[in-house]
Amino acid sequence: MRILVVEDEARLARLLADALVKAGFAADTCGRLGDAAALLGSEAIDALVADRILPDGDVLHLVSRLRGEGQDLPILLLTARDSVEDRVAGLEAGADDYLVKPFAVPELVARVRALVRRPGSVFGRVDTIGNLAFDFAARAASVGNRPLALPRHELAVLEQLVLAGGRVVTKEMLIAKVYGLDEPESNAIPVHIHHLRHRLGDAGSTAHIHTFRGLGYMLADQEKRP
Ligand code: CA
Repeated sequence: MRILVVEDEARLARLLADALVKAGFAADTCGRLGDAAALLGSEAIDALVADRILPDGDVLHLVSRLRGEGQDLPILLLTARDSVEDRVAGLEAGADDYLVKPFAVPELVARVRALVRRPGSVFGRVDTIGNLAFDFAARAASVGNRPLALPRHELAVLEQLVLAGGRVVTKEMLIAKVYGLDEPESNAIPVHIHHLRHRLGDAGSTAHIHTFRGLGYMLADQEKRP
């Protein structure tokens, strides 16, 4: 899952992004409303954490516009102001939650987790492919009810493959969702796929990762070959 942190205090932005990455998300940061709008338009962002007041405007304008376009990604607003009017304005514009500065970083991570888990969101689901199960809320995989321990990046790759529900996921999409705007080694995704395949095989998973050369990867139950 990829979170965009929009915060003009660069140090705070970095701190929040680092905490989100530790919690298993990919996180990107920017400090201006215009950059946020551009990133939301060009990148596959799953949730937004945004400071209310940015150097080039009020983030509520962006929130209203996104909702007007029917975009339903979870949005958490940060603000230095704590008044009933501010809260109401934020929620009316379509934000999902509101955190008043100063806040404890673990609180922010907990709120983001809660938002991406809300009912109706895919992230409250447990999907199964053969005997492999993926719990999006817990971000945990299991094979035949036995937990499958995975390093952070492999877990993120598997999450995207499960989310795709039997569709092919491109390498570029995986890079974006797993690393955000960070530039990984060029062979990072094939290496993760290689390790994941072995771990799934060793665990006795009937779900198998298929490679479609030049296109991407697809997770499917061995028993129901595509
Ligand atoms: Ca600010």
